Amino acid sequence: MIARHAEIRASVQALCREFPGSYWRARDRAREYPTAFVKALTDSGMLAALIPEEYGGAGLPLSAAAAILEEIHASGANGAACHAQMYTMGTILRHGSPAQKQLYLPGIASGALRLQAFGVTEPDAGSDTSAIRTTAERRGDVYVVNGQKVWTSRAEHSDLMLLLARTAPKDTTAKKTDGLSVFVLDMRGAKGLAIRPLRAMLNHATTEVFFDNVEIPAENRIGEEGKGFRYILDGMNAERILIAAECIGDARWFVETASAYAKSRRVFGRPIGQNQGVQFPIAKAYAAMRSAELMVHEAIRLYEAGEPCGAEANMAKMLAADASWQAGEACLQTHGGFGFAEEYDVERKFRETRLYQVAPISTNLVLSYIAEHVLGLPRSF
Ligand SMILES: Cc1cc2nc3c(=O)[nH]c(=O)nc-3n(C[C@H](O)[C@H](O)[C@H](O)COP(=O)(O)OP(=O)(O)OC[C@H]3O[C@@H](n4cnc5c(N)ncnc54)[C@H](O)[C@@H]3O)c2cc1C
Repeated sequence: MIARHAEIRASVQALCREFPGSYWRARDRAREYPTAFVKALTDSGMLAALIPEEYGGAGLPLSAAAAILEEIHASGANGAACHAQMYTMGTILRHGSPAQKQLYLPGIASGALRLQAFGVTEPDAGSDTSAIRTTAERRGDVYVVNGQKVWTSRAEHSDLMLLLARTAPKDTTAKKTDGLSVFVLDMRGAKGLAIRPLRAMLNHATTEVFFDNVEIPAENRIGEEGKGFRYILDGMNAERILIAAECIGDARWFVETASAYAKSRRVFGRPIGQNQGVQFPIAKAYAAMRSAELMVHEAIRLYEAGEPCGAEANMAKMLAADASWQAGEACLQTHGGFGFAEEYDVERKFRETRLYQVAPISTNLVLSYIAEHVLGLPRSF
């Protein structure tokens, strides 16, 4: 492991030891939000890693946030319950007005204000964000929102939602990505807002959100009207890099768990790990994880240097998600039947890491990006 931020990693490991597999299994079984874990992480200040010190955050670089999320996942925990609290605020930080930054960032840094819901995806608009139909119509000092979002994770555990909505009809804009705007929606007591939990394959606190004439003060719009897609896109490199770091953590957990089991499980009078048929998938997964890790570090290096990193952030996310999935497969197979038993946590982690082939961007869309933007191949959609 390339262990930058050794002290931070050690603190995360110590915190995560308080939340062992049994804690996560119980939450997973009941599809409960890991409130105690999120509180401990909030109190430690780690969720405020990326918020500048002038707003009460730690002012740390992206590599530190990546180290935090990697260690959470390598411990067997799941940072998805709160990772968005770390980076969703980036849109306010980069594109918000000075007044918006003062209003929101200190509260987010202290944990008093939770901004960890990000409403983009709709039933008919996932990979193609430009197809969103939720509208925000300007009426005097407010925007009136109507429509529906789906897969809005953590909406029930967030005070604010970063919302992408259409402020101009699609056929009236020069580019199909114009006409979308970003808002900070204060969900506390918002009239006309309905949040419905969406039970899924994994414990992800995800929801459907319905907007029926929900009013948002115009001053809650981030940046210019109609430029929201660009603002959202701006934050995506950081998000991809951080998700990639989580996948590296998952892959580490799978490789370590598989290796430990392969040493202890005896079949035919010897440890199963003595068989090359058992060793090789784990060794291959380890090699894949290490090579993906190099791409994650390259993406971080470029990001921190302020250089373009779209290709590297996308490749890091795809390679790390592939590596964690490969490691999950090796770990499950190594455990034989016991891999399917809840108490080993393998099946839970297997379900959790599978998500990253699809969200926040699916592997095919990453490949399309590389084909078009790196290789210069014709645009396919
Ligand atoms: C647990 C979970 C949590 C989520 N949390 C959030 C959240 O908090 N906020 C939010 O806004 N969204 C969230 N999402 C949504 C997620 O970002 C989308 O599921 C994802 O972007 C894919 O969109 P889709 O599901 O509509 O798939 P579609 O866009 O319908 O695609 C279906 C399949 O077709 C493939 N495909 C589509 N078009 C092409 C093409 N041109 N070429 C090749 N392949 C193609 C895709 O790769 C995919 O495999 C979450 C999803 C899940 C499952």
